[in-house]
Amino acid sequence: MDITEVDYAVIGVGTMGSMALWQLAEAAPGAKILGIEQFGRVHTRGSYAGESRLFRVALKEGGEFIPFAKKARELWLQLAQKSRRDVFLPVGALSIGPKSFPTITATQKTIEEFGLEHEYLSAEELRERFPQFTVDDDDIGILDPQGGGIRPEVAVASATELALKLGAKLWTHTEVLAIEPKGEGAGVVIRTSRGTVVAKQSIVTTGSWAGDLLPEVAPLVKVRPLALTWFMPRKVEAFAPDKLPIFLYDRPQADGTSFHIYGAPSLDGYTVKFSSDQFHEVAVPHPSDVPATVDEKTLQLFSQRVAEVAPDFYPDVARLSVHHDGFTADGHAIIDTDSDTCVTVAVGMSGTGMKFAPYFGQLAARLAMTQDTSLRPEFFSLAAHAPH
Ligand SMILES: Cc1cc2nc3c(=O)[nH]c(=O)nc-3n(C[C@H](O)[C@H](O)[C@H](O)COP(=O)(O)OP(=O)(O)OC[C@H]3O[C@@H](n4cnc5c(N)ncnc54)[C@H](O)[C@@H]3O)c2cc1C
Repeated sequence: MDITEVDYAVIGVGTMGSMALWQLAEAAPGAKILGIEQFGRVHTRGSYAGESRLFRVALKEGGEFIPFAKKARELWLQLAQKSRRDVFLPVGALSIGPKSFPTITATQKTIEEFGLEHEYLSAEELRERFPQFTVDDDDIGILDPQGGGIRPEVAVASATELALKLGAKLWTHTEVLAIEPKGEGAGVVIRTSRGTVVAKQSIVTTGSWAGDLLPEVAPLVKVRPLALTWFMPRKVEAFAPDKLPIFLYDRPQADGTSFHIYGAPSLDGYTVKFSSDQFHEVAVPHPSDVPATVDEKTLQLFSQRVAEVAPDFYPDVARLSVHHDGFTADGHAIIDTDSDTCVTVAVGMSGTGMKFAPYFGQLAARLAMTQDTSLRPEFFSLAAHAPH
């Protein structure tokens, strides 16, 4: 088989890969850029499937994540404008919970520290403006007007399309079988099901499959299934994007525990998405082991929780899908480059990668172009994730 020579190869064209491809194509005009994806241009098996994702700037994590979110938001708006598609829905983000609840106080701290736009709502104001939710007297609301919804499949399709328009190439239905660095910065040989590629630099964005190709990453990224459900409201108009922001809800229980539910307004005109971090906590060995559904008992409990949070819904799950993401031990992504191997990695997005995706894609592209590791924070480095 022929050998294909390129300047940059992006391995895995899902969320991060499509963004890296787009950002490389913009930043390196004239360079030979090839994206290699094992499935189709947009598919149902990546971590990006499932119609919507939540975006916020006022993140409880604070720190570096606030500038990351701000940069990502600019790029989301650019992607929407350049692709002329509704990639980003600027509907705002609403957090509801007891005023002393840790996520609420941490979000307030971030808002104050970074001087972020916000609106605080009392229980009374919440009931008046968002009667869709059950609100206790002790609850408050935090509205982040910079927040919103991301349409992930549209985002991957749009970023890929922009990259191709700028001259990048894409091989779909092509599995990368091995990455063989030549060493000493001499480039990398990439074995694929369609032949061999020799690249000066490579970016590996294989998400939950990261361990298949990168033995040093395999023990650091665990695959966790994540389920999404959609319930049908009795009056769907109240849950349309012009009436409802994306939402996050923390609700304490009588036994001292609490649960967290998040969701997005109705995008299909008949259901509303609800999910919870507590849905699936057990890792599986590989994305191919992700179960197709959720057991009935778990669904019934979740349905009760939805009823507690938003009472005006039919109790049955109307839509359900199970996805996955690659999680690191501390929840920080691995975004790093190695000038010797010519391999840049952006994996281990840990259930939070979508909001930052265009910025992380840009960071990966810059790392591959410069091998300047000072561009990324130390906590993204491979060394910071390696067991000590
Ligand atoms: C249900 C769910 C809800 C989420 N909610 C949010 C949210 O609200 N907000 C938020 O910010 N984040 C959220 N996330 C997280 C976010 O969606 C992920 O972090 C992000 O999509 C991960 O992107 P990725 O590029 O790492 O993986 P992917 O998008 O899966 O991309 C990896 C790509 O690599 C390809 N690939 C793998 N191996 C090979 C190979 N050998 N050869 C060729 N191609 C290969 C795959 O086919 C795939 O296309 C959620 C995730 C899930 C699953």
